[in-house]
Amino acid sequence: MKLLFVVACALIDADNRVLVTQRPEGKALAGLWEFPGGKLEPGERPEPALIRELSEELGITVKEDCLAPLTFASFAYPEFHLLMPLYICRRWEGTVTSAEGQALKWLRPGKLKDLAMPPADEPLIPHLIDLLGA
Ligand code: C5P
Repeated sequence: MKLLFVVACALIDADNRVLVTQRPEGKALAGLWEFPGGKLEPGERPEPALIRELSEELGITVKEDCLAPLTFASFAYPEFHLLMPLYICRRWEGTVTSAEGQALKWLRPGKLKDLAMPPADEPLIPHLIDLLGA
């Protein structure tokens, strides 16, 4: 089965809230809420890929030493097996904005359970609750 490598990030604000973004219409899993990130380009390392995606999607600049790996998702979708490390980040430059028109929400980790998320992302929530509280 094809292996798809995606990187994702939980941006954490001063109130220990986490950013989630809504997948736009026309994309797979449209309408679901996810941790921002995306696919690696050929030859790209995970951290630069995440820095690129956060810049493209949210208009922020993140330094590589501000990304810390927390855990990873592994999920078998029908078309591919997804491997997705989740990083956390508390420091960035610029203001988080919806650079691609996607909806954004800052939520306490305990509230993430009320959202419809991709099945790969849901098992990540308890790790954020352990880290930040509900
Ligand atoms: O975002 P993009 O469409 O490039 O991601 C490729 C695939 O990875 C999605 O179709 C989805 O199945 C999966 N994905 C996910 N959770 C994320 C990001 C992507 O399950 N946070």
